[in-house]
Amino acid sequence: MKHKVVDIKENKIREFNYKFLNKIGGCGYLVGKWNSNISVDCEICGKPDTQLHILFQCPLVSDIWNELSTIIQSNISESEIVFGIKDNRPLNNLISQIAYSIHKCWIIRTNEKIKYNEFQVRSVIKSDLLYKSKVFHLLKENQLKDIFQNVSVILFPHR
Ligand SMILES: [Zn+2]
Repeated sequence: MKHKVVDIKENKIREFNYKFLNKIGGCGYLVGKWNSNISVDCEICGKPDTQLHILFQCPLVSDIWNELSTIIQSNISESEIVFGIKDNRPLNNLISQIAYSIHKCWIIRTNEKIKYNEFQVRSVIKSDLLYKSKVFHLLKENQLKDIFQNVSVILFPHR
């Protein structure tokens, strides 16, 4: 469990991971219980809108993780998304960033009542990964810079 918080230096991503690990991150399933404007079920597929659903299980995003698993030649599981991967800081950072970007899309579509499609989610992830690769370049975190840059290009060849 500590990989998800210790490996990550950026505060807002750490905080996101912390909330996610403790099951207090924003999701329809929790928020919808006290805010009747927000559905407890997923607006895309109708299943309970839990954290894990938003980040991993929903058809809106499941292909993104499948593709990423192919690229890194290792199956990314739910538990790896939740708890992190032992001794792999670059991959932990990458997975956390993608989950964070997916959740950002959920916040936008929930607040603004916009229906997102997979292409829009991918566009948000891609621009976040490219931006972060530039930050990692400045920080001389070359391993992180490379994986963020490469995955953004391989995972999203079309603009
Ligand atoms: Zn769904």
